[in-house]
Amino acid sequence: MAAFLAEYLARPGVRITENPSPDGSKVNLVVEAGPPVDPEDRHGPGRGGLTLSAHMDVVPAGEGWSADPFTLTDRGDRWLGRGTADMKGFLTLATQAFARHDPAALRAPLALVFTYDEELGCLGAGHLAATWPREHLLPRNTLIGEPTSLLAVRMHKGHFKVRVTVQGVNAHSGYPHLGVNAIEPAGRIIAALSDLRAELVTERPPMAEHFPQTPYVALNVARVEGGTAINVVPDRCLIELGFRLLPGMDAAPIIRRVRGAIERGFAGQGEGRSESGARYQIEEMGGAPPMLLPEEAPIYRAICRRTGQTETVSASYGTDGGWLAHLGLDCVIFGPGTIEVAHKPDEYLPKAEFVAGARHVEALIEEFCLGGEGHG
Ligand SMILES: [Zn+2]
Repeated sequence: MAAFLAEYLARPGVRITENPSPDGSKVNLVVEAGPPVDPEDRHGPGRGGLTLSAHMDVVPAGEGWSADPFTLTDRGDRWLGRGTADMKGFLTLATQAFARHDPAALRAPLALVFTYDEELGCLGAGHLAATWPREHLLPRNTLIGEPTSLLAVRMHKGHFKVRVTVQGVNAHSGYPHLGVNAIEPAGRIIAALSDLRAELVTERPPMAEHFPQTPYVALNVARVEGGTAINVVPDRCLIELGFRLLPGMDAAPIIRRVRGAIERGFAGQGEGRSESGARYQIEEMGGAPPMLLPEEAPIYRAICRRTGQTETVSASYGTDGGWLAHLGLDCVIFGPGTIEVAHKPDEYLPKAEFVAGARHVEALIEEFCLGGEGHG
């Protein structure tokens, strides 16, 4: 897909950068046109150009489709297919909007940032944030076209992942004194994490009021794996958990509390237990940072002015925006389609929203790249 898009968009005046994944099998694609970003103007009130961002991957189609998920199907008022809402519809309209403009006519830069493996935990955006040259500035005003039913979202939670591995010693279950059971201490670690989860539910960090359904750090013990057979003392048990930070929150204090709960659970295994020789290891597996854009950001104000939106809307899912903000981009999540049909069979995109989304993108290019009306 990246190769197709690069070929489709290549022409004089267009600068294309491929940012390959560590194993070289995938790329983030950055396509730029117009003058380079002026560092002086970047934090000025108006221009600084426009970046349109989308992820190129989709989740697997799964079962239950009424049509081939990978053939775009016309269903009257909607387009049906995997990725129509999340978020190949937006990727298409961003690509077409970019292709329509003569690079020489742009007074401020226009960029496309297309990422890989967003669905696996914003891996592409994280890699881009870690490897993109700091002196190569991208246009600050950024639209990430995740499906929000064309509501501007300027904040969302972040997701961090932790893996705990408890190591014991295998033995025949008839001779348990020769082994160390790894599952029993893992069970107590899970109980301690469950206590921490309940504690977190009662806390209200800053910004909680923007998440009425889940105004707290949500912790999820997500996966447990251990043991091989009933007559074997298990030598290993793995626990994977995730937690969702509120916008503006630092992960470190929560990670400390997670570590504390794991230590307490493990230590609480009591004296005289045969598995006291077990050991454990904690790995922080990274994740996607939360996102928070101030209300005064020009791109947020421009979209709200266009759509008449007055209320603050938050999202409970993560996006590439948490990482792209590390590149100095002001990210607003705003795109056609609804997240409610994403990751499900018969995912669709209402045609009217696709058309309206294209109109909004065109107007934002006019405002931020062509020096049209609406400048601050
Ligand atoms: Zn998405």
